[in-house]
Amino acid sequence: MDSLTGLAWTNRFADLGPDFFTELPAEGLPDPHWVAQSPDCAQLLGLPADWTLQPTALPAMSGNAPWPGMRPLASVYSGHQFGVWAGQLGDGRALWLGEVDTPTGPQELQLKGAGLTPYSRRGDGRAVLRSSIREFLCSEAMAALGVPTTRALCITGSRLPVIRETVETAAVVTRVAPSFIRFGHFEHFAHHDRPDALRRLVNWFIAHHAPECADEPEPVVALLRKVSLQTADLIAHWQAIGFCHGVMNTDNMSMLGLTLDYGPFGFMDGFDPSHVCNHSDDRGRYAYARQPAVAFWNLHALAQALLPLMPIATEKDAEASGERLLEAVEAYRERFAGQMLARLRAKLGLVGEDADDQALADDFLKLMAASRADFTQSFRRLSRAQSSPEPLRDLFVDREALDAWLLRWRARAAPDAQARMLAANPAVVLRNHLAEGAIRAAQRGDFTEIARLLKVLGRPFDEPEQAGDAALPPDWASSLEVSCSS
Ligand code: AMP
Ligand code: MG
Repeated sequence: MDSLTGLAWTNRFADLGPDFFTELPAEGLPDPHWVAQSPDCAQLLGLPADWTLQPTALPAMSGNAPWPGMRPLASVYSGHQFGVWAGQLGDGRALWLGEVDTPTGPQELQLKGAGLTPYSRRGDGRAVLRSSIREFLCSEAMAALGVPTTRALCITGSRLPVIRETVETAAVVTRVAPSFIRFGHFEHFAHHDRPDALRRLVNWFIAHHAPECADEPEPVVALLRKVSLQTADLIAHWQAIGFCHGVMNTDNMSMLGLTLDYGPFGFMDGFDPSHVCNHSDDRGRYAYARQPAVAFWNLHALAQALLPLMPIATEKDAEASGERLLEAVEAYRERFAGQMLARLRAKLGLVGEDADDQALADDFLKLMAASRADFTQSFRRLSRAQSSPEPLRDLFVDREALDAWLLRWRARAAPDAQARMLAANPAVVLRNHLAEGAIRAAQRGDFTEIARLLKVLGRPFDEPEQAGDAALPPDWASSLEVSCSS
């Protein structure tokens, strides 16, 4: 026994009852070992600094022995994958452990990769070390960048072989979020014609995660509007840092507007608006430039799922209800445009608002795209371009065009913008090759690079000690491929 066994588990999701999940124990990793842990995430949960040294920590996080008060379960959801209705999905390899009271409010814990569930379909319920490291590092990197995201507490590993394109080894990531509920949870009960269960889920979600909506004349509409606005904020964040999610299916869309389900994600190196980070996305549905429109499409799927809860008895009622839901989703557009422009202004060091700001930003992005200039480095070097423009110019092919743009920018940017721009334009993001370095070392049994990168990614706006962490990708990085297989 140790202090971890005394945590206070509230487990409110479990109150929903068996229509929403199946309770089952985790299938633990055999002979597990620690791979990584996030001190920041542990602190968020109020865990003691030495929590991984406590005897019940490794058994709990590897799925072998839950702490008292945990209530492991897998939830059911459905969703649209690549724009097509995919039917029932669910936590196929994620296991909800429970919800714990923390100094900053309740947080749910999930194990990813802890064995088969009734929703595993053709999968094996496992996650490989490679993808677990990517999810762990990116969750914590996004949090440090200020992007809404699920968090990652730790990774445990094992020698258990797992077959993907090659034979890899199994790992378990512990994820943390106030709620893991997805658009797909609501779509599930709408599609299966269960308005009673759908109503229960909506009421539960509003009560616990959107209480202000309960006081609105139409709580369902208010909820949809809230989710639409939060999603707009999230996507503006992604676009502003060159993040591509890779699999924006409705079952991967968080009702809290969090970045959720890290799989074949990627940060862009050379800027290409049509960049597709997921090798399995052969039609480019989830290309960088399409993410804002895809999120809007996904919100329409959520609106459709909520329609049965609105007055629909007569044709006139149904039409009016549909209109009100659509109006709630429409709020996304203006919010996204406003947030995107605000983020671009911050990235360009523009104080106040000028009618030409959007054009100024768009023109810089066009120049970046024409030169395939590195996304992160372009903005980082621009931050210092008032005093030293040469490093920025080095990234561009058409330097005359860049110089012309810089003249316009200098006339508009605040003269003392550098410090603020450096705080808005990260030096370090989790480029594929950085993750790959940590993965290759870990596959050899050396986990120190994960811990080192975690630290560097935790201060993304500082110049890293090792210049390579912020540098342009090496040549071999262009051959890296990430796909849905994880
Ligand atoms: P994803 O594309 O990762 O969002 O996964 C879509 C669905 O497949 C989700 O319901 C996952 O839980 C499930 N899934 C993905 N990989 C596995 C796996 N290895 N074993 C079981 N289920 C999985
Ligand atoms: Mg998923």
